[in-house]
Amino acid sequence: MAEELNPFKIAQEQLDEAAKIMNLDETAHKILREPMRVIEANIPVEMDDGHTEVFHGFRVQYNDARGPTKGGIRFHPQENIDTVKALAAWMTWKCSLANIQFGGAKGGVICDPKKMSEKELERLSRGYIRAFGKFLGPKVDVPAPDVYTTPQIMAWMMDEYSKMAGRDEFGVITGKPLEDWGSEGRFNSTAMGGMYILREAARLIKLDVKGATVAIQGFGNAGSFAFDLATKLGAKVVAISDSIGGVYSKSGLNFQELAEAKKKTGSVQGYAGASKISNAELLESDVDVVIPAAIEDQITEKNADKIKAKLVLELANGPVTPQADKILFEKKIMDMPDFLVNSGGVIVSYFEWVQNLYSYYWTIDEVYQRLDKIITASFNSTIRTQNEYKDRGIKITPRDAAYIVSVDRVAKTMKTRGWY
Ligand code: NAD
Repeated sequence: MAEELNPFKIAQEQLDEAAKIMNLDETAHKILREPMRVIEANIPVEMDDGHTEVFHGFRVQYNDARGPTKGGIRFHPQENIDTVKALAAWMTWKCSLANIQFGGAKGGVICDPKKMSEKELERLSRGYIRAFGKFLGPKVDVPAPDVYTTPQIMAWMMDEYSKMAGRDEFGVITGKPLEDWGSEGRFNSTAMGGMYILREAARLIKLDVKGATVAIQGFGNAGSFAFDLATKLGAKVVAISDSIGGVYSKSGLNFQELAEAKKKTGSVQGYAGASKISNAELLESDVDVVIPAAIEDQITEKNADKIKAKLVLELANGPVTPQADKILFEKKIMDMPDFLVNSGGVIVSYFEWVQNLYSYYWTIDEVYQRLDKIITASFNSTIRTQNEYKDRGIKITPRDAAYIVSVDRVAKTMKTRGWY
């Protein structure tokens, strides 16, 4: 992998930048630049035709000062250790910013799930737990679904771990189906969290969400729920896209009709009564709010100057590059960072874990109320930190501020635990 594209190097540079601004203790910085533990294993799986394939798997436990490590497991043909390390570092900062009792981790297996049968996937999922199980546990390391892993896969993994432990251990993994003691509200928790940030950020920049115009890039899990929920808040979604392209209508798009068009034609561009636009045009459209909810590196130094929105809500991971971040800041466009905006998923994962440990379950309204409280507190800590630095004559972006809040918390916990 080329040096400049190495995601773990990027994660380390982001930490270095925050460390410099906040004057982080040198030893804390040294500890936090590297993962605490990296585990690799080879997993033999019997395939349907009777031959045995050996899959390579990873688990990176980045830092557990603030609680059991937490992070998804990805099944992907291009999985590699540097991506897993970077994602584990980012989980550490995300959980710390949310102030939930978790450290950060990530796992993965190099495989192509699209070419595997249901039974092969089940044997691989159970094999992963047999290989890594002794390093996992509700009080040790708690995985979750990620790219190409599903609630069903989480149920098999929980079952395998419980068999190894000789008792039910529902809290070993989150993102389980409701039948296996998953949490209410987990399905749309990422978009729901993003909407609480939309409400708070709009209030801060004095933008009325009722009637505000919104463009959303991506109509998958995150983007489609964001569309529905933003509409329920009174906003007008005027543009939406998927990998094929987008549509724009000044008078607003209808969620139900859009979902039907996507189902029928395979793309949102099948929606009648709106003009077709490209993904680039969507990002640059004349709206109040842009929500990138698809893939990384969408707002870059090439197009940041052309963004007209007052507010950018990063529901996707990494949609705004560091250079673009600076341009948006200079243009006084408020850019809310990904590990704040999309933290609703891990916050409700935390609720699932808490409910599993208590064996007592909450209603969907209780889940949303608690999510609102936690994510709003994260937003407030971020803005408060940004303002504190501003008062000292140091201009920092909301992303810098969020990093400072989360790194500072982990460093302080390590200090009081006597790690340095
Ligand atoms: P998804 O696969 O359900 O949907 C992705 C959407 O992006 C699809 O509509 C797809 O057509 C579109 N897309 C793909 N390539 C595109 C391109 N080049 N231009 C425009 N659109 C394109 O994925 P998701 O779960 O909705 O995740 C979207 C983003 O949100 C990712 O960055 C993910 O990491 C992040 N995220 C999701 C969750 C979650 O709970 N789903 C949690 C945290 C972060």
